[in-house]
Amino acid sequence: MKTIGLIGGMSWESTAVYYRRLNESARAARGGLASARVLLHSLDFSDVVALQKAGRWDLAAEMLAASARGLEAAGADCVLICTNTMHLVADAVASSIEVPLIDVVAETGREIVGAGLRRPLLLATRYTMEHGFYADRMERLAGLRPIVPEAEDRAEVHRIIFEELCVGRVEERSHRAMLSIVERGRAAGADSVILGCTEICLLLDPDALVLPGFDSTRIHADAASRFALHETDIQLRERKAA
Ligand code: GLU
Repeated sequence: MKTIGLIGGMSWESTAVYYRRLNESARAARGGLASARVLLHSLDFSDVVALQKAGRWDLAAEMLAASARGLEAAGADCVLICTNTMHLVADAVASSIEVPLIDVVAETGREIVGAGLRRPLLLATRYTMEHGFYADRMERLAGLRPIVPEAEDRAEVHRIIFEELCVGRVEERSHRAMLSIVERGRAAGADSVILGCTEICLLLDPDALVLPGFDSTRIHADAASRFALHETDIQLRERKAA
């Protein structure tokens, strides 16, 4: 089993979901007392948010690249950035390490394409919905261009993420608001929904929406599990020795 490196804490509410999912997959695949080999570098989210608000993506890139290098030096065979938003700096992080960065945008895009869908509605932070990096990245890596909600709905999704989900609050009122936003997306022509923020799965069940739902947290964690579990330790040693 390979070792999965997580850059987490963004927020820790969703990193906890990754940790549980990785371990459930290891148990399901190997049985008994098997659990996932995980290295976690959990950042202080308030530092990251301060850089986001200041638009200092350069400093955020340095922070995450240093974290990725630390995970690699500690023995990680792959690295995951456990947030969609911070994939804004994914290229800088990927180029700072030798081991693969498992990309949440590419993995989510591949699942949608594999399901034969073409027009996903993206629910995410303001940065992810409006900056352009996510749509560009998904087009480049999966040939898909997501659509986003109208401005008022984008502001509400962003507010729910930062004021509620990232601080552990799951509100029924916000659940209803999200369902209405999905409904408006469907009316605008969406054929699927991306839970494109790693906390949205705390509020929405991707399998209980009016459109097929794609949960980035589950998809990302499962991609890491496939990577970690599909190679035996002997193969891994051989690959390292080569
Ligand atoms: N976890 C969220 C995401 O997937 C938002 C937190 C952040 O700004 O990194 O985008």
